[in-house]
Amino acid sequence: MRLPGPFPQYQRGYSSTQSLFGRTRRRAGSGLKTRLILALVFVAFAVVSYYGQPGDVNQVTGESERVALTDEADEIKLGFQAAGEMVDMHGGPSRDRGAQERVQAVGQRLLAGLDKDLAANGRQNPYRDAFQFTLLADPQTVNAFPLPGGPVFITEGLFRRFQTEGQLAGVLGHEIGHVLSRHSNKQMARQGLFQGIAGAVGVLGGDMSSAQMGQMVGAVLSTRYGREAELESDRWGVRLAALAGYDPRAMIDVMRILEEAGGGGGPPEFLSTHPKPANRVEYIERVIAEQFPEGVPPGLRP
Ligand SMILES: [Zn+2]
Repeated sequence: MRLPGPFPQYQRGYSSTQSLFGRTRRRAGSGLKTRLILALVFVAFAVVSYYGQPGDVNQVTGESERVALTDEADEIKLGFQAAGEMVDMHGGPSRDRGAQERVQAVGQRLLAGLDKDLAANGRQNPYRDAFQFTLLADPQTVNAFPLPGGPVFITEGLFRRFQTEGQLAGVLGHEIGHVLSRHSNKQMARQGLFQGIAGAVGVLGGDMSSAQMGQMVGAVLSTRYGREAELESDRWGVRLAALAGYDPRAMIDVMRILEEAGGGGGPPEFLSTHPKPANRVEYIERVIAEQFPEGVPPGLRP
């Protein structure tokens, strides 16, 4: 492969350095060449193993995807292994029995709405029985998040800010969407690719610090699903809420609630993994207009 030449200065600098410093430079240059080849091998291996795998068909969407775990049972196992720790980190489950039951009930109503829709298309939800909705006692943190395969969590800090059940449905629908679209699983597959490239960066730099840097970048990336995935989950939130009989416009209220919670930008823990709420409103409005070209029907629950 020949790269287009947008770096004439770099190329000139390279050749003149070689001719000026002759022998010593050539030795350093051959070391660089070895590292460059090694780095290319790393990248090639990562890219081939990522793109070489046949995609796995998502049973819910029917789409072919690159995932680390192709067996849903493995995903479910992984999620449940981490669930206990998540609960402990947020002060345990909420002791408000009524609120806990409401979170469960709304979550189950969303899944039941999806069941009907999937059955009509000859599909099924492989995570159906693994889904679990937990209200966490943490009153300070304003957040909601899922784990692979089914466990969904929401903090009291966020739950207490809702004015309607539709708002709760929108948030739970968004988290269910992360699970159905297997965002963690895809992230793990991409991380394999990324770690190969990070390894190459380490080889190129030739010292520990750049290898560590590569690892750090990898760790930071792995805590976010990325903007695309978040918008995809917003789309799920709208779809699942509407299928369960909730007014999907409640999702727009949720964005306002999130913005207020953080004094304009959104709560810090939510922003660390999600795009700014204000930037999602326009997208959500577009999705609602797409799903209901004749307007949102009357009689949906707020
Ligand atoms: Zn999200």
